[in-house]
Amino acid sequence: MKGELKYEGKGKQLFASDKPNELIQLFKDDATAFDGIKHDVIAGKGELNCAISSFIFEKLHAAGVKTHYVKRESANEMRVKSLDMMPVEVVVRNVAAGSICKRLGLEEGLKLAHPLTELFYKSDELHDPMINDEHCELFGWATPDELNQLRSIALKVNKVLSEMMLQVGIQLVDYKLEFGKAGGEILLGDEITPDGCRLWDVESSRKLDKDVFRRDLGGLSEVYHEVANRLGIII
Ligand code: C5P
Repeated sequence: MKGELKYEGKGKQLFASDKPNELIQLFKDDATAFDGIKHDVIAGKGELNCAISSFIFEKLHAAGVKTHYVKRESANEMRVKSLDMMPVEVVVRNVAAGSICKRLGLEEGLKLAHPLTELFYKSDELHDPMINDEHCELFGWATPDELNQLRSIALKVNKVLSEMMLQVGIQLVDYKLEFGKAGGEILLGDEITPDGCRLWDVESSRKLDKDVFRRDLGGLSEVYHEVANRLGIII
């Protein structure tokens, strides 16, 4: 039961549900990169991402991480708690790849001595600039205590997700998380899919994530299917 469209992003839509404090999050078949400059529609992508995200949120819940996930509503829809989203994205990195390599001149694949958290301001117009704790406090985006909570949840997610992936021969390189508030509590929101993570095969370092699409390295659907299959997710 979907109601009015409340929000539309590049990869998903949020609809009102039959409950005032819950929304239906629909995963679209669109694949985008470079702030939407590269775009394609890949049949079945929404369903794959919904299946992977639901599976991961269920594992996180079992490990005690509080998230907005309520249940998988349909093939490409998740029922979620309605959140007041915080404008701060948290990226966790275990291995150097992507923007940190450009920014700091690091070689892709450099193993980091410990997981690194980075903060970005969620703004499409500004291309999500990197920020620090002082920006968050000064501009009212998150208090120091809230940032402690975000980092603590992000690192717990790292432990659960890294172990889950390693068991199926996948290295969790990095990922992005978004958070929101419901009833005064901070919950993990958004999605966790190969769109927002870097996943490399442990043996070959073959990419099993959206870099395949960003860099034209092969079929996105094939590698997302491979991630789902390895995790034992039935599509
Ligand atoms: O681009 P960058 O290297 O900073 O991305 C780090 C991780 O966060 C990657 O896994 C990327 O897919 C994800 N990310 C995202 N959405 C953004 C920025 C980064 O999903 N807006």
